Amino acid sequence: MKTIAGLCAVVALSASAVDAQTLDLRRYQIVDLTHALNSKTLYWPTSPTGFKLDSLSYGPTPGGWFYSSFAFSAPEHGGTHLDAPIHFGEGHMTVDRVPLDRLMAPAVVIDVTAKTKADQDYRLTSDDVHAFERAHGKIAPGTIVMLRTGWSSRWPDKKTYLGDDTPNDATKLHFPSYGVEAARLLIQERRVAAIGVDVASIDYGPSTDFMVHRIAAAADVPGIENLTNLNQLPATGVYVFALPMKIEGGSGGPVRVVALIPKH
Ligand SMILES: [Zn+2]
Repeated sequence: MKTIAGLCAVVALSASAVDAQTLDLRRYQIVDLTHALNSKTLYWPTSPTGFKLDSLSYGPTPGGWFYSSFAFSAPEHGGTHLDAPIHFGEGHMTVDRVPLDRLMAPAVVIDVTAKTKADQDYRLTSDDVHAFERAHGKIAPGTIVMLRTGWSSRWPDKKTYLGDDTPNDATKLHFPSYGVEAARLLIQERRVAAIGVDVASIDYGPSTDFMVHRIAAAADVPGIENLTNLNQLPATGVYVFALPMKIEGGSGGPVRVVALIPKH
């Protein structure tokens, strides 16, 4: 039987637990993992258009104050953006329906830059994931995994970033990304929240079956593509917020991705 004193202790404990969980942003370094959208923003080679910003107003008004506004247009999949599960999974979540806890979560960074230097078509393997876990601990369910290939330093040079710049042709692309077995391990066994990468696709450049996209979509795991600044993050211990435009019924969209690194 609980005594009043015992109950008070429980109440006091939960109050201090809440205090301890208060998010104090001054205790974090914030890193932007997003490329700016502009006329050089890269889209898939078969995309009919890119990012467009048209000026509607810019300058002094008759009333004497300054006023500016623009209209923008863009395909969903270009620049730093989110792939919603419906992108490769009929009947799966549209971008407005992706649960926020898949997009705001602890994150890990798996670094394969040493391997991509030797092989531009390198694919993350299950062995790479296991080696990461031996060094940093098992990847917990609900984690956002970000794969660092080093490719963001090539942005926005189309030829070196995508491996080919032939207009309207996506058959000669070369860049690294996730391998199928590693994707299965992360998505189906580790049950990660989302997978991100600093290249144009969660499938590697030469892919013709987009199997990583299909595995992710089937499990309602969103993808985050064209990330940058992953070199500024530690392997573990960070939080990532990746909140896309809430396009109702959309298959993806531009996303501002930020990481919070605890200051010690
Ligand atoms: Zn996409």
